[in-house]
Amino acid sequence: MKDIRRKRVAEILASGSALAGETVDVKGWVRTRRGNKNVQFIALNDGSTIKNLQIVLDLSRFSEEELKPVTTGSSIHVQGKLVESQGKGQSVEVQADELEIYGTASPEEYPLQKKGHSLEFLREKAHLRPRTNTFGAVLRIRHALAFAIHKFFNDKGFYYFHTPLITASDCEGAGAMFQVTTLDPENLPRTEEGKVDYSRDFFGKHASLTVSGQLEGELGATALGNIYTFGPTFRAENSNTPRHLSEFWMIEPEMAFYEIKDNMDLAEEFIKYCVSYALEHCADDIQFLNDMFDKELIERLKFVIHNDFVRLPYTEGVRILEESGRKFEFPVYWGVDLASEHERYLVEEHFKKPVILTDYPKEIKAFYMKLNDDGKTVRAMDVLFPKIGEIIGGSQREEDYDKLMGRIEELHIPMKDMWWYLDTRRFGTVPHSGFGLGFERLVLFVTGMQNIRDVIPFPRYPGNCEF
Ligand code: ATP
Ligand code: MN
Repeated sequence: MKDIRRKRVAEILASGSALAGETVDVKGWVRTRRGNKNVQFIALNDGSTIKNLQIVLDLSRFSEEELKPVTTGSSIHVQGKLVESQGKGQSVEVQADELEIYGTASPEEYPLQKKGHSLEFLREKAHLRPRTNTFGAVLRIRHALAFAIHKFFNDKGFYYFHTPLITASDCEGAGAMFQVTTLDPENLPRTEEGKVDYSRDFFGKHASLTVSGQLEGELGATALGNIYTFGPTFRAENSNTPRHLSEFWMIEPEMAFYEIKDNMDLAEEFIKYCVSYALEHCADDIQFLNDMFDKELIERLKFVIHNDFVRLPYTEGVRILEESGRKFEFPVYWGVDLASEHERYLVEEHFKKPVILTDYPKEIKAFYMKLNDDGKTVRAMDVLFPKIGEIIGGSQREEDYDKLMGRIEELHIPMKDMWWYLDTRRFGTVPHSGFGLGFERLVLFVTGMQNIRDVIPFPRYPGNCEF
C-alpha cells in the first residue's frame, strides 16, 4: 500500500468529480459485493454517510480466491483511482489497485445480511445495529442534535452546568428512583427499629440516581443567570411504552428573571432551532428515513419550523376535549392528568399544530411550580408534539419562600435533605423558570422512528439491560 492519507467516504462523495483522477485511500465495511466473472462491485460504507462508495475490482487484477473473504460485514482497506462512474446511482467510483482485508464476517454467522431486518430483530442485535443504514442515520442525527443543543445555548450565553447523577434528595418528585448502595443485600445493617441503617451505607445516607437535574440547576441559574444541563437521567418506572426509557438524556435549561412567557418563547425557539439544524446538516439521513419509514417526515419537520405553536391554558384544553364528542380510553375532566391520547388529539386533530399547554391544576404538578392568583393552578407549561405527545415539561418556579413551604407542607414532602434548595428562596430569591426536554423524544420526532428504544444506542427498559 502507498503512504497516502485516508479519506472518509463522505469527504470523497462531497468532493465528487473534483477528485477524479486522484488515487484515494479508503477503509470501511462491505455492505454488498456483486458482479460477474470480469468485474466485481463492492458497496463500501465507513459510517461517515448513509451513502456507500462503489469499489470496482477488475478480475484480471484480483483473483476470485482473493475476493472470497470479502463478504457483507467484512472490513477492508482499498487504494485506487477515483473515476467518474458510468453506472447510475453514484457520480464517482474507485478502481481498486490494492486491497487489504482486515476482518472477515462469515456469511453463515454474521446476522446483518443484505435483506432488510425488522426493528425488533435489530433490537436484539443492538451491538451490531449501528452498522445498518437505519441506525447509522439515526445515530448521526442524534449526534447532530446533541451538537445543535450545545451550540444553541452557547450562542445565547447559557452555561453548561453539570448537575450530579447521584443524589440524596428523595423529593425530586419526577418519578421512581433507582437506589445507589454498596450495602450487602444479603446482610443489611439494621437500626434499633429494624429499618435498614443507611448511615452505614457508602454516603452515610440513602442515595439514588437522579430523575432530574432541575433542583441543582436552579442553584446554577440563581448565580450564573442562564444555565442548561444535558446529561443522563434515570427513572425506575415500569413504563413499557414506546416513549419511555429507564435511562434517558435530558436537557434542562434554567433561567433567572424569566417568567412563564419567556420560558415558552425559549422552548419554542429552541425546538425549532434543533429541527432546522438537523434538516440542514442531516439532509441525506433524514431523506433516507423519510423514504424508508415515514413519507410525511420531512413535511412534518418543516411544518413545525414554520408555524407558531398554539398556547392554551389547560382548562381550555380540557373543555375542547370534553366537547370533542370523542370517546377516549381514559375519561377527561378538569383535574385529570392528561394521557397521551388526549395530548395527541389536541395536537394532531384539533389544532394540527404543536401546542403549549399552560396553567395546570396544582394537584397534578410538582411542588416547586409557581402558584397562580386563582390558588388552583400553577404556571406549568408542557409542549405537546405530533406523534410524541409531551416533549417538554417546564414551569415558572415558586420564588416565594412562604408559598413554597406551604406547598411542601401540604404535600408532606420530606425536605430534611433539601435545606440547600430552600436557601435559593431565603437569599436573594428571583423569579425564574426552566424546562426539561427528553433528548430521545426530540430524536424520535426528528427521525420519525416509532419506538424510543430505537433512537438510543443501547436502550435500558424494564427487563432489559443487555449490552
Ligand atoms: P411523561 O408524562 O411523558 O411520562 P413526565 O411528565 O414524567 O413525562 P417530566 O418529569 O416532565 O416528564 O420530564 C421532562 C421531559 O423528560 C418530558 O417532557 C419528556 O420529554 C422526558 N421524559 C420523561 N420521562 C421519560 C422517560 N421515561 N423516557 C424518556 N424521556 C422521558
Ligand atoms: Mn411532564
